[in-house]
Amino acid sequence: MEFIKCDIAITGGGASGLMTALTLAKLGVKGKIIIAERNAKIGRKLLATGNGRCNLSNVKISDRFYFGTAAEYAKDIFRKYDCNYIRKYFEEVGLLTVSDSEGRIYPLSNSAASVADCMRNYILSYGVTELCSTEVTDIIPDKRGVSLICECKSGGNECSTKLKISAKYAVLSCGGKASPKLSGNGNIYGIVEKLGIDITPVFPSLTSVSCSEKLLHTVKGVRVKSRVSLYADGVLADSHDGELQFTENSLSGICIFQLSRLVNEYFVCRTVNRKKTGNIKICVDLLPEYDSESCRKLVMSRKELFGRYELEKFFDGFINKKLGIAVLKKAGITDFSRKTATLSKSETEKICRTLKGWEFIPSKPSDFENAQITAGGVSAKEINFDDMCSKKYRNIYINGELVDIDGSCGGYNLHWAWCSGIMAAESIAERMEKKYAETE
Ligand SMILES: Cc1cc2nc3c(=O)[nH]c(=O)nc-3n(C[C@H](O)[C@H](O)[C@H](O)COP(=O)(O)OP(=O)(O)OC[C@H]3O[C@@H](n4cnc5c(N)ncnc54)[C@H](O)[C@@H]3O)c2cc1C
Repeated sequence: MEFIKCDIAITGGGASGLMTALTLAKLGVKGKIIIAERNAKIGRKLLATGNGRCNLSNVKISDRFYFGTAAEYAKDIFRKYDCNYIRKYFEEVGLLTVSDSEGRIYPLSNSAASVADCMRNYILSYGVTELCSTEVTDIIPDKRGVSLICECKSGGNECSTKLKISAKYAVLSCGGKASPKLSGNGNIYGIVEKLGIDITPVFPSLTSVSCSEKLLHTVKGVRVKSRVSLYADGVLADSHDGELQFTENSLSGICIFQLSRLVNEYFVCRTVNRKKTGNIKICVDLLPEYDSESCRKLVMSRKELFGRYELEKFFDGFINKKLGIAVLKKAGITDFSRKTATLSKSETEKICRTLKGWEFIPSKPSDFENAQITAGGVSAKEINFDDMCSKKYRNIYINGELVDIDGSCGGYNLHWAWCSGIMAAESIAERMEKKYAETE
């Protein structure tokens, strides 16, 4: 087994790991810093964020956009590390940012690559060592601090060698299980659990939701402005407006992404918002601008106006044609050559009910492959939120998505990765400075 000694070993070169390294460099920490990254390249996932634009923060940053056991600590953390702090921090390493009308912050260049480039330029010029294709497979606390056992791949992943990294401090910035092609595979959870550190159940979030609705495939590809609401045991649990996308067997789009956390919490824990739940459903309001009464009036007036039209033309100029046909089918209508005037009162009622509250029953948990984020992770009770240090191991820091905190869509997850990365690095820098002063 090969052996390397360093002062600080960062496990994972994603958002939080890069920010940890960047901050150590900015603070001028003396000592050898290594990033061990299982992928062949550092910052791969960053390039895919925000559809290649990297939505790196949000002007509305607040703890109310976060979930998980650690969310309650976010308020204090964001008091110091707000979006202006993060923007300025990036500016100091060359990255200019802009915010859009919804408060989402992006690089001025509109390219996620600039975020990764500016961070890497800075840390590499400072002398941080990147060890890519190096997967940490075990973590052993020891007298010097921590030993990381790694598997290093080379030659197109065919050969692998073992490496031991001895560090005074280890920072676990391994992310979660979401989007494993770009990031980690979740092996870190087992490694961390072996250390006696508690992990709360993990499940995918910010992703599409599979539903058992036999008409779904008929509206595949349709996008429509909607309000989607999740009901747990018949009680409204959460609701979002936005562009709903229908796929072959699932509902998608950002408004659904926002609901997906609770849907997957239900499948994994049988709770919604940590409350025991027997059943869930998603109600889709296809006409959020109309209340039920004005929807009814609209449908009735169209019935009168276009009474001589065949039913297949009823929704022309109103909603998407495919969607209109599906709504009619949902109302039990199968003969679309009938004249609109023949619609019965109960059929009209059913059409209105479908338009204002089409019910979809989520059928199975989402997969991690297509999820943007992992909910759950290292429990808040294991971490000191003044510095992101493990309570059990004072030489091990844990940050980013690995922690049991996840945010809404809109730059909130990267904002957490940046803040927690900065905090871990500031603490290490302070402790190293103190030790250095003591030995002087
Ligand atoms: C497609 C997509 C788009 C997204 N867009 C946005 C967005 O626009 N805005 C936003 O706020 N959030 C976005 N997110 C979420 C955001 O990317 C994450 O919240 C963030 O990257 C988490 O940072 P992290 O450092 O904790 O983990 P990661 O960025 O996942 O980094 C973890 C790193 O650790 C490495 N690693 C894992 N295990 C090991 C190991 N055992 N040994 C060595 N290395 C290891 C991984 O390969 C990875 O490089 C998006 C996510 C996805 C998948």
